[in-house]
Amino acid sequence: MMTVEDITIEEYKPEEQKCSEQGLGIRKDCVATIHYRLSDSTGELESSHEGDPMAYLHGHHNIIVGLEKALTGKVAGDKFTVEIPPAEAYGQVIEGSQQRVSIKQLILANKKKLKKGQIVSLQTEHGPRQVTIVKVGRYVVDVNTNHPLAGKTLTFDIEVVSVRAAEPEEIAHGHAHGIGGHHH
Ligand code: ZN
Repeated sequence: MMTVEDITIEEYKPEEQKCSEQGLGIRKDCVATIHYRLSDSTGELESSHEGDPMAYLHGHHNIIVGLEKALTGKVAGDKFTVEIPPAEAYGQVIEGSQQRVSIKQLILANKKKLKKGQIVSLQTEHGPRQVTIVKVGRYVVDVNTNHPLAGKTLTFDIEVVSVRAAEPEEIAHGHAHGIGGHHH
């Protein structure tokens, strides 16, 4: 068993204590792992419970703003439900957001037949963006660039699994590493 004398200055991380401490909890530059169930008015859309919990870096726009707000100050073991309006989730639906793009601009895991209603990633100058296929042509597709969850009020059932201080490298990258996070 570790005694106080065994802990060197290097090993003592005050920030780590603050991230997991009751009354302080999740805040900027903490890495939290969470299990979530996401639903809208039609029912459950997504759940993390079949796999590893999701790891994210708090305060770096890794997750939607409403969820980040709700998680602030929480500690491991906390469970809660939060309803998030579109303005703090994926925004409102913008009309006229349909455009014709080359199939080459889509980031496709497999070249299976594209179909109407399918959600795919489109390569844009601001990075990949999720779009919904409206019409499929031979070389082009018409896509709706609204986020698939735009205009929806979302309900998250959250379970905070763990909270720790971020490593300097994670802060530099702007995301969490390790299980449930980014792997390079
Ligand atoms: Zn990284």
